[in-house]
Amino acid sequence: MKNIYDIIFIGGGLSTLMFLSQYTKNNSKQKILVLEKNKKIRSDQTFCVWAGPNLFDIEKTYKLKPKKIWQSIKLINSKESILQKIKPYQYKAFDGNKTLQLLLAQCKNITYKKNIIVDDIVYENLFLVRTKSGELFKSTYLFDSRPPKNKAIYKYPEVLNQAFIGTEISVARDQFDDTAATLMNFQKSDDAIIFNYILPFSKKRALIETTFFTKKVDFNLISKVHKNFLHHYQDYKIIRKEKAILPMGVIKNDTNSQAIKIGISAGMIRPATGYSMQRIANWLGKLDLKRITQSNKATYYFQGPILLDWLDSIFLKVCYNKPEIGPLLFISLFKNANIFSIIRFLSDSSTTLDIIKIILALPKKIMVKGLFNYYE
Ligand SMILES: Cc1cc2nc3c(=O)[nH]c(=O)nc-3n(C[C@H](O)[C@H](O)[C@H](O)COP(=O)(O)OP(=O)(O)OC[C@H]3O[C@@H](n4cnc5c(N)ncnc54)[C@H](O)[C@@H]3O)c2cc1C
Repeated sequence: MKNIYDIIFIGGGLSTLMFLSQYTKNNSKQKILVLEKNKKIRSDQTFCVWAGPNLFDIEKTYKLKPKKIWQSIKLINSKESILQKIKPYQYKAFDGNKTLQLLLAQCKNITYKKNIIVDDIVYENLFLVRTKSGELFKSTYLFDSRPPKNKAIYKYPEVLNQAFIGTEISVARDQFDDTAATLMNFQKSDDAIIFNYILPFSKKRALIETTFFTKKVDFNLISKVHKNFLHHYQDYKIIRKEKAILPMGVIKNDTNSQAIKIGISAGMIRPATGYSMQRIANWLGKLDLKRITQSNKATYYFQGPILLDWLDSIFLKVCYNKPEIGPLLFISLFKNANIFSIIRFLSDSSTTLDIIKIILALPKKIMVKGLFNYYE
């Protein structure tokens, strides 16, 4: 029957395609429809993940090809520069467009419709999905990956925005040290945590991203700071741009809704970092991806790791109330904690000992104030 499906996915971005690339391995006979708002697969993203011992192997499972792999990382503030060698771990970058294309190619027997904006969903024994252009699709199950719209989905009130502008540039002469990725090169600010993120793909090519962890997003200001930072590089050519706002808050997934949330709205994004690829992969790696039925549907609702989300919430409270000390927090963490513990912590794969090491590495007074929400 036309326009009637077993499952409809709203949004054909990272979470949907990672999910379907695995789910359709065993369930390719189901009739599955993806409705995606964009006209083309996005090329304004770069997905980075940590890789190494005891971390879920994303590259192998999803048959992805890294654009670049680093075995050292840097953090810089006005006072110091910290260089950490991370071997046997690695920091890997995947090109956003290629990743989404490769994932889509692995989804067996799905219908992927682009340029369709979902406007309204009604549940009456079946899901009725209405699009902006007036088409109607029906399905038994619905996965919704649209980004969060209201504050009610957050567990704690301290929600920041991670807003950034990135430019991939190339230069004629060698200007980048491509042996290390710079995670955070901080700039001084009292109102937001501001840093530049530098991914040198070669000595002549890099993605430079200016990021603000902020309550209120002002893209004019971010653009100004970004342009100033780009002036560090001589005679550069712009290859590509990235611009986004990601939510930084602990999201409680609504497991009572008929529609199954997936992706950012389900809490698949790490609250304190805005990274989601590893969290999505960890979740899918543990799921028994059997054909969805009413009796196993509950297993498809994502539950975030409670302890890690709680630790992130304290961290976010501090960053929300005292952004000026944000750089100190990150620098203390990377200077004092074991780098392998940090990597496993950031990848949702920490042991109890890792968590203890992380807590001990952070400035106690500041974190206790965050815990009890006490600021002078
Ligand atoms: C520029 C950028 C860089 C990032 N870098 C990293 C990184 O290095 N590492 C990492 O782990 N994470 C990173 N992230 C974060 C995270 O991995 C992404 O946000 C990820 O895409 C989240 O997956 P998702 O499926 O929830 O959302 P998306 O991938 O955004 O997919 C949601 C889809 O829904 C579509 N949609 C929205 N509304 C509708 C509608 N009404 N009808 C139909 N379709 C709709 C959107 O067009 C979109 O394609 C980055 C994000 C961005 C934007």
